[in-house]
Amino acid sequence: MFERPRGTNDWGPEDMVKRRFVESRFVQLAESFGFREVATPTIESLELFTAKSGPGIVRELYAFKDQGGRDLALRPEFTASILRFYVSDLRSRPKPLKVYTTGNVFRYEEPQKGRYREFYQLNAEIIGGAPLPSDAETLALAIGTMRAIGLKRVKARIGNLGILRASLPFGSTDQAVVLHSLDKRNFAMLDSELARLGRKDLSKSLRQFIDLSGDVTILDRASKVLGGAGKEAFDYLRNLADLLESYGVSPTEYAFDMGVVRGLDYYTGMVFEIDSPNLGAEKQVGGGGAYDLAQVFGGEPVTQTGFALGLDRLVMSAEAEGSAPSPPPLDAYVVPIGDSMRPKAIEVLASLRADGLKADIDLVGRGPTKNLEYANAIRARFAILVGQRELVAGKATVRNMASGEQREVSLETLVEALREKPPKSASR
Ligand code: AMP
Repeated sequence: MFERPRGTNDWGPEDMVKRRFVESRFVQLAESFGFREVATPTIESLELFTAKSGPGIVRELYAFKDQGGRDLALRPEFTASILRFYVSDLRSRPKPLKVYTTGNVFRYEEPQKGRYREFYQLNAEIIGGAPLPSDAETLALAIGTMRAIGLKRVKARIGNLGILRASLPFGSTDQAVVLHSLDKRNFAMLDSELARLGRKDLSKSLRQFIDLSGDVTILDRASKVLGGAGKEAFDYLRNLADLLESYGVSPTEYAFDMGVVRGLDYYTGMVFEIDSPNLGAEKQVGGGGAYDLAQVFGGEPVTQTGFALGLDRLVMSAEAEGSAPSPPPLDAYVVPIGDSMRPKAIEVLASLRADGLKADIDLVGRGPTKNLEYANAIRARFAILVGQRELVAGKATVRNMASGEQREVSLETLVEALREKPPKSASR
């Protein structure tokens, strides 16, 4: 007996129906927004991630040397890979470039409910658009995905790092440390850093500021707390609210939240996180914002905005809200009555499959009674009994598994008979 590695999951058929549902709703919506799919390798050079996030990231990665002595890592997210791809191959394409990708990512984290070492992300990026329209489009896709999955209680929290950056009169390294302490809400660290920088006076207003959250009217209050700093960034959020309204995003689907800091250095402007209140500690289902990575990877300056949604957590949230589908039933289970009937039964099976029905056949050689038990166990809607007597008349016996009703149906009209809506009593 082998156990799967810590922090990984096996997903059974019932799980996969839900996971594919969530993924396909995202893909459909992204395509309808004009995003196009890309795929990048699961392994990347380790340097791609240390260049982006610093050497400290290594302990959070699955990093290893390959047999040629190269330092590699399993991807912990998609943005770095997509920006690498952009800088090396895609940068001459017409802008904006709108791409999406989905797949597994790996982080060496302490596993718990909703936090795994291998998990799945739905990712979208816009490169080379004007900031405001691109951020609005990105948010509309992220929030729209929640709606498409049937999640009614999730809320996006939107902030703007430009506001905090404008109110922190420090160089970028010192700014990063202060932002990091705000992101982690580590106020001891905040105070000691501000003391070191000779600006202890900022502590109170910064703490007040990151606690502010609400509709667009919160922006006036937040602006006062910071004594008018970051006017442009506040105006940006007001304009964003107008564009979101035009997209049909309801004000109930998001809030402005000055506490969304996303401490990583490469975020530059609008940032957001999406929470699902029914998920407890691991309630964050997604996050994103405007960032600057192309230059880190050797490209020219270009605007970049994007997000990653956690598929595993979206599925958990859909289950909690009852919007995740169950596996569709098998339409027909074909039973040859005796081995001599198998060739004809396979022909019937093949014609049902060709018509787009989900159809299966006895592969064991069981007798009719055992086969009907099996059809019941796998929740087939109909059993099709193919026997010599009916076949001579060009017919098969169709048994409705829910009602037990059985009738002979001409093979020519078999598909129509199976397409009939199951009676109410049949819905199990
Ligand atoms: P991040 O790239 O850290 O902003 O993560 C984006 C989304 O991926 C989060 O909002 C989560 O939904 C999901 N996520 C992050 N880490 C994990 C994990 N260890 N296990 C499952 N989902 C995760």
